[in-house]
Amino acid sequence: MITLRRLASALLLVLGLPTLAPAQPFHFPTANHALFEPGGEERFFVGTTGKSWTSGTFGCVRSEGWQMHEGLDIRCLQRDKRGEPTDPVLATADGTVVYINRHPSLSNYGNYLILKHIIEGLEIYSLYAHLQEARSDLAPGVAVKSGEPIATMGRTANTHEGISKERAHVHFELNVLLNDRYAFWHKKNLPDQRNDHGNWNGQNLLGLDPRLILLKQHEMGSQFSLLNFIQHQTELCRVVVRKTDFPWLKRYHALLKSNPRAESEGVAGYELALNFNGVPFEVIPRAASEIREKAAFQLLSVNQAEYQVNPGRRLVARHGRHWELAHQGLNLLDLLTF
Ligand SMILES: [Zn+2]
Repeated sequence: MITLRRLASALLLVLGLPTLAPAQPFHFPTANHALFEPGGEERFFVGTTGKSWTSGTFGCVRSEGWQMHEGLDIRCLQRDKRGEPTDPVLATADGTVVYINRHPSLSNYGNYLILKHIIEGLEIYSLYAHLQEARSDLAPGVAVKSGEPIATMGRTANTHEGISKERAHVHFELNVLLNDRYAFWHKKNLPDQRNDHGNWNGQNLLGLDPRLILLKQHEMGSQFSLLNFIQHQTELCRVVVRKTDFPWLKRYHALLKSNPRAESEGVAGYELALNFNGVPFEVIPRAASEIREKAAFQLLSVNQAEYQVNPGRRLVARHGRHWELAHQGLNLLDLLTF
């Protein structure tokens, strides 16, 4: 069936009009834009206590590479008389509020807010954490515009050590969503762990690197494509899942490749390329005759160079000369295909 949206884009193509994708889709989440200034990183990022600014960037940047930080910790620019941060936090793109946590004791993110955006047909979720407070009139379903103030920066968190005044920052993420049945999956697989945030649990959101996205967009201007950015992630590993119906296939349909053999013989599973954080950025349908083993999840290959640089998610592990999917990798694939 041809959807209305496809029909509309086809018409625009026929008429030679520009397509609907906006140029420069992402706005900085605060007035701090030092990321674009030469040597500005120290004024943009806040490191963890006693560590350099790099520990406030995205990736395997903590505990010698073994701990992931899934967002950017962006330094505050404005303080009140008591030294508390007062920077307005801004929506990174046009979107809709999907979740607000106003109970800081329930999360290491403290007060946080999540917006949903549709960019080039992709569902992207921005997250803003450690807020003093989210704007009181915002609630799930409310639409916001790019650059609109949505909250005030703070330093809320439920961790024992807390966040000092000096380290006040907004923790900013750009995520894809693994599965809209997360809450059921959690109940089944983690019955002893509380889930206070439904589908908006951190395990269900996979971060992309917002720094690279902002820099690429700055460099490429209207030529920037988020879809292209996601499709060109560095591969950590390649796996096959023997599942043929899971939400990712529809939600991120643009990442699917065609495979005439599977299309004529029937699809028996999917081959996925995962980046170091587990984002399936390439999805290839596979016929039964193309899948060698019976296991539900099979590891096809590992890019060892990428594993050396970014091991922190522990998706795969090496035993002697042999690689296998580690507990975290199996967990991710189970949730993805649940
Ligand atoms: Zn952070």
